[in-house]
Amino acid sequence: MNEAVRARFRRHCRPKPKLTMSEWAERYVVLPSATTRQAGKLRLAVAPYLRTVMDAISDPRTQRVTFIAPSQSAKTTFGIVVVLYFAHQEPSPQLVVQPTISMATDFSKGRLTPTVEASPDLNGIFGVPRSRDANNTILSKQFAGGQLDIAGANSPAGLASRPKRVVMFDEVDRYPEEAGNEGDPISIGEARTRSFQRTRKIIIVTSPTDEPVQDADGRWSGSRGWREYLEGTREVWEEPCPHCGEYQVLTFDRLKYGDPGDGAVDPETVYYPCVVCEQPITEEHRPQMRARSRFRQTREGASLAHRSFHVQGLSAAFALWDELATEFRKKKNDPVTLKTFLNTALGVVWKDVRAENQKDLLLTRAKRYDGLSDDVELAYDVPRDAGVLTAGVDVQHDRLEVSLWAWGVGQQAWLVTHEILHGDPTQPLVWERLDEWRALKWTHESGAKLPITAMAVDAGDGNMANHVYRWCAPRLGEQVFAVKGHNSPTAPLTPRVPTKVKPGRLYMIGVNGLTERWYRRLNMPDGSHGPGYVHLNHRATEDFVKQLLGMERKYDPKTRRRRWVPRKNTRVEAADCANYALAALLLSTRDEELVAILRRMNDPVTAETTGKATAAMPYATAADLYDSSPSTPRWLP
Ligand SMILES: [Zn+2]
Repeated sequence: MNEAVRARFRRHCRPKPKLTMSEWAERYVVLPSATTRQAGKLRLAVAPYLRTVMDAISDPRTQRVTFIAPSQSAKTTFGIVVVLYFAHQEPSPQLVVQPTISMATDFSKGRLTPTVEASPDLNGIFGVPRSRDANNTILSKQFAGGQLDIAGANSPAGLASRPKRVVMFDEVDRYPEEAGNEGDPISIGEARTRSFQRTRKIIIVTSPTDEPVQDADGRWSGSRGWREYLEGTREVWEEPCPHCGEYQVLTFDRLKYGDPGDGAVDPETVYYPCVVCEQPITEEHRPQMRARSRFRQTREGASLAHRSFHVQGLSAAFALWDELATEFRKKKNDPVTLKTFLNTALGVVWKDVRAENQKDLLLTRAKRYDGLSDDVELAYDVPRDAGVLTAGVDVQHDRLEVSLWAWGVGQQAWLVTHEILHGDPTQPLVWERLDEWRALKWTHESGAKLPITAMAVDAGDGNMANHVYRWCAPRLGEQVFAVKGHNSPTAPLTPRVPTKVKPGRLYMIGVNGLTERWYRRLNMPDGSHGPGYVHLNHRATEDFVKQLLGMERKYDPKTRRRRWVPRKNTRVEAADCANYALAALLLSTRDEELVAILRRMNDPVTAETTGKATAAMPYATAADLYDSSPSTPRWLP
């Protein structure tokens, strides 16, 4: 062998330097300018937590790594580094699973390819990109020592590929529960690593969703990623106070800032009081804190085989504290947007108020609307923001249970009363009682006497159905509807056309969707008066609230969906009545009509100004949030 050949041989066969993943990343990865905030050679000093997470993956003792992090934390860059490391430094067959095929395509085209092109040492690692090379497509790329497949969790075909040493599940909390008919996408993907038992790497990355809960049958729902986190070492990211040096997890609820009214939070007013010395920590301190930040394991004795890491919003590399505060102020009043903020911007799980606490919480709401003391005669039943009354009637063998709800714009709801009319519904007497009750008028804050606008009566019990039809049919012109809960969890809230029955009409209602709506609203933060909010008065007894909260969401293997069902040994008449009353509202009254009614009722003289005030309410958008399906009155057969 001559010297030149020997030199070339040495150059090519020189073993690659042993590098941890973070060392490798900072040496080889260059971020393209078009796709990231931080173009140029990758510098992990900005996102130091990534170092620990990356090095855990390249640690031979670790087979599983879970990383829970918010947006702005550079977690996509992290995913790109993992893929390229296992193509270049430790070539291994790999599978990357994105929530959907189109996200898989975006990951490949939008992030992976530009990074490869921007990184001189990695150029051409997946072959020549422009050639019509079957080995280098968007979702499948070959490299020396392995193949990378990129799949969507919604498509079982892509998941069931060849054996893989490395499988990365990205944004797991956005996965469908099942991939087609094949079952859980994570189990399918994980099964690919079977032949690499000891050396496999399973990587789970996501921002979380709901706190995981188990139903009575042991079936889990809620954040899949957070469940993984809990099974690992549970390492939290801590930063040292610049004043006293104390390490602490920076949590958003401690952040202080001035009240900007409707505008953006002024960065000058934002600070974080240290948990120990209470001295203000500000945005300017963050770079120096970063350099000394670290993960602390909170689960003692957990095996290094599964390391799990959590980084929160205030520590995310590219999140600015004043921007987070501004976003929070915009989103805090609506449970739907607040949840997205917590999950995505802060990277924390959303905790639904548990039934027990929730019952107590709701009971503290149960006060007279007139605000007067208990020994004074009730001034009114219905406050000024409500203008329409609807009743829901639940039919039992020995009684009727009726709930009366008052409605405002955006389906803001006020309980008026819940009553029991005793008697056998196969006999006329109890129906006569219901007639009398339906004729009652209720006092509005304006002094007006309000009649009941519409009523829905449960015809779901086969033995009772004929009696219900017979009572409802002649009253249909007065908006008295016979209703029955639809079996399908996806049925529309109210039917386009009623079903003909003898005598009269039957309205099949989407009870699953109606329950979902009530429960989302019952979970709204206390005191957030506005569209969707549920008010209770002094007539809401503990038993009533228990019944109202008596439903739980359970997995239904037949429809492969979760649906609302009564908890074991729990009565749910109040919840049923609430669904029927809401259906009666949807069948009878449009939101615009309600606005007009309220305007007339509350201020007949200055309707002009009231009109303006009402129009300025954010109901149009907020109501949209709560109402995915539009409601039009279609009570006439
Ligand atoms: Zn301190």
